[in-house]
Order: sequence, then C-alpha cells, then structure tokens
Amino acid sequence: AAEEGFDLEEVADDLAAAGHGPLPVLAVVGRPNVGKSTLVNRIIGRREAVVEDRPGVTRDRVSYEANWNGRRFKIVDTGGWEQDVLGIDASVAAQAEFAIEAADAVVFVVDATVGATDTDEAVVKLLRRAGKPVVLAANKVDGPSGEADAATLWNLGLGEPFPVSSLHGRGTGDLLDAIMEALPEAPEMTFGGTVGGPRRIALIGRPNVGKSSLLNKVANEDRVVVNELAGTTRDPVDELIELGGVTWKFIDTAGIRRRVHLAEGADYYASLRTAAALEKAEVAVILIDASETLAEQDTRIISMAVEAGRAVVVAYNKWDMLDEERRYYLEREIERELVQVQWAPRVNVSARTGRHMEKLVPAIETALAGWETRVPTGRLNAFLGELVAAHPHPIRGGKQPRILFGTQAGTRPPRFVLFASGFLEAGYRRFIERRLREEFGFEGTPIQVSVRVRE
Ligand code: GDP
Ligand code: GDP
Repeated sequence: AAEEGFDLEEVADDLAAAGHGPLPVLAVVGRPNVGKSTLVNRIIGRREAVVEDRPGVTRDRVSYEANWNGRRFKIVDTGGWEQDVLGIDASVAAQAEFAIEAADAVVFVVDATVGATDTDEAVVKLLRRAGKPVVLAANKVDGPSGEADAATLWNLGLGEPFPVSSLHGRGTGDLLDAIMEALPEAPEMTFGGTVGGPRRIALIGRPNVGKSSLLNKVANEDRVVVNELAGTTRDPVDELIELGGVTWKFIDTAGIRRRVHLAEGADYYASLRTAAALEKAEVAVILIDASETLAEQDTRIISMAVEAGRAVVVAYNKWDMLDEERRYYLEREIERELVQVQWAPRVNVSARTGRHMEKLVPAIETALAGWETRVPTGRLNAFLGELVAAHPHPIRGGKQPRILFGTQAGTRPPRFVLFASGFLEAGYRRFIERRLREEFGFEGTPIQVSVRVRE
C-alpha cells in the first residue's frame, strides 16, 4: 500500500505501540542544573521535555517514551519540579523517592565539573536503600580533559561513572547501553494482565478526599497476606487486597498512608504520587469529595488519568455528608462538570459508613472490560461504512474527504487508526468518536482515534 501514500512506518509504529503492557520506567535524578533535562532531551531526541521554565507543580506530564536500539522504555524527568517551594535538598529527596517508588531503574546525574556535593551523597543513601539498579552519569564531560573529574565519582560507591556530555552527545551511547542493561526487559507489573497476577488499581484524588479512609475500609478484613500468594513478587508500597472474591493490587499504598503534610509541598507530593501511581496502574479510581465543589486540582487529576490512558472509575466519596437537597443539585453538577469522563462509571460512596462499597468492584470490572475491548476489523468497517454513508464529511473547497477504512490498532486503552482521503475536521472526528462509543460501549476507558491522510 506504499504507493497509496500512507506512511507505513508510522502505522507500523502505532501498531507496535499498541497492545503492549506497560514499559519499563527509567527515572532521571539529580541536583538542579546538573543537566537532567538536557540528558532527557538527548535521549528522547527532541526538545519537547523540558524547555518550559515554570517553577512549581506546573508540569503534570512527567514521562516520555524513548527507544534505544529498538527497546522501548519510559523516561521520567524530575528536573524542574518545585525546587523553589521545597528547597533543593527536599526536592532532590522527593525525586529519589519517586524513583524508588515508580521506576525500574535510575540514572543519577552528577555534574562532574563540580564533583559530588553533600546533597549528592544524601541522594546516594536514598538510592541505595531503594535497591533499584542505578547508573551513574558524570555529566558535563565535554572533552577528554574532563575524564579525570568523572573518575573521582567512583567515590560515590555506585560503580562506574559514565562520563557524558548531554549537551553535545559525547558518551551518551555507552550510557544508554548501561541503562539498557539495568532496565528489566519488561517491568514487574507486566504479568498483571487478564491472566496471571492481580489487576493493578491506583486510588487517586487530591489530599483529604478520603483515599486512606477508603483504603482502610476495603483492606479492613480482606488484606491478603503476601505469603499466601506463591510466586507473587510485590513492591512493599503496594498492597494485595481481596475484594469480591478477587485479589487486587492497590498501587503505592505507602504513599497514601504516609500522608505527607508539608505546608506548601503537599500539592507537590500529591502530584508526584498521582503520576507515580498512574504509571504503574491499569485502572484509576478517582476520588472526589462530594461535600465540596469540584476543584481545579480534581480536574487536573482527572486529566492525568485520561492522558495516561488508564481505565477510569469516578468515586464520589463522603456521600454520607450530603442532605437530600445537596444530593439533588450535586447530581446535576456532576453531569456538567465531569464532561471529560462522561464515559466513566460512577459510584457514590462513603468510606466512613461503607455505603455502596460493594459497587466499587463491578465498576472497576466494567472499566477494565472497556479498556480491553477489541472491535474486529470487519465489524468496525461495516459500522464506519454505514456511518459515513449516512453522515458524510462536509464538503470543503469542492472536496469531500472520505474515510476509506479503519482498524483498531490496540487495546488498553482502545486505539483506532482511520485512513482517509483528506483531512478530517475536528468536529467530524469528535462525531466519529462519539458514535464509536455509542456503538461499541467503551465504558470506563479513554479511546484514541488518529487519522492517516492519503496524499
Ligand atoms: P537540570 O536542572 O538538572 O535539568 O539541568 P539542565 O538540563 O537544565 O542544565 C543546566 C545547565 O547545564 C544548562 O545551562 C545546560 O545547558 C547545561 N548543561 C547540561 N548538560 C551539559 C553538558 O553536558 N555540558 C555542558 N557544558 N553544559 C551542560
Ligand atoms: P486522603 O488525604 O485522601 O487520604 O484523605 P483521608 O482518608 O485522610 O480523609 C480525610 C478526612 O476526611 C478525614 O478526616 C476522614 O475521616 C474524612 N473522611 C474520609 N472519608 C469520609 C467519608 O466517607 N465521610 C466522611 N464524613 N468523612 C470522611
């Protein structure tokens, strides 16, 4: 089909990207200005990552997909996170903590022209405790004369320092080879598909919505003792809990239970935890405080879950606090406010009284089923054919773009590629997406529709 002008390589990439489990995660950690962001940009090969210089918790997006010699992985850039609010040491400690909880391997970046500082030494201690593989990058070695500086970093006790110049690319190939050795082929959680290990749930929501209360409620009687599940490796931050006769893995429960309360840093930790938990989860249960109005932070957390491509359940908590009148108005508010996730199953619960807790598992199962739905190509094209015949794309400049055929490129979440004879307007694409949902369900899952235009 190459002569028809499709970008086959792009399509192949799409198909390759689809249907895989989560990728191994690499975290890049280090003091401010050592060159973390420059290194991340070098590795992902574009300028997308870092260039925004906004202080504070402004970057929800923390991970980027990268590829080295055909092996795909996720790279998490912790540069620029909230340094002003927390102070350097706390900020770097938080990065290390993130790395410990969310990453499969860590690149620790040190500025070789400065040498190891006390802060660096402190991070080394944290990393050691984590027990995850660490690769030491001695950055800013722009030429051979810097090699000696790099060698002094053997003293950190992290093994061989890799001298690199993130700015010019020097030595980054060797560094990446070492990283590939440190990263597992597939992360530990890959086995949590439909067969094998437990499904992974992230409880997310802004501070005080009731995450730890809900966790305690569900874990109450039914916490699974680890040893009972033979052959299950388990992160100490995760908890296995039996609900509705099925064992689930609740991700990053330590982060929920720890309840970090820094006067100014709380939001920051919350974002960090949310990003980390989403990275590892299959389904996100987003908690919203029904007794308060929807906050911007709620909306942001919802966006994070959708953009991460996770199955979503919305749980309105503290339902016990509402009187009849408030319930009535809330139902209407919700319809207006949750447009982003209209497709998500919703449960109105109370972690305090236990109200409707039994509805949680069916909602999670529904969302996961939507997330894994695969529409056979024949059925999809029959549907598209009828749809396009009944509702053709509007004529623009004397031309009428037609959808030629479509295919589902992947699941978890469902991803579609439509091949068209011309550019499809955003409104028409949204229309198609809406009709896809009407026809095939996809309850509880974001779906992605991309269009390939034939030249
Ligand atoms: P981050 O705060 O750790 O993310 O550091 P940045 O990536 O923002 O880099 C801090 C500064 O160091 C910037 O001015 C970079 O251009 C510079 N820098 C980064 N890597 C190198 C390098 O390999 N060599 C030199 N000479 N400068 C670098
Ligand atoms: P987290 O920060 O999201 O983990 O929230 P917590 O679980 O610590 O809850 C914050 C506060 O809300 C605590 O005082 C809880 O007792 C209270 N809370 C949590 N769930 C409920 C609920 O369903 N009903 C009521 N009335 N209070 C709740």
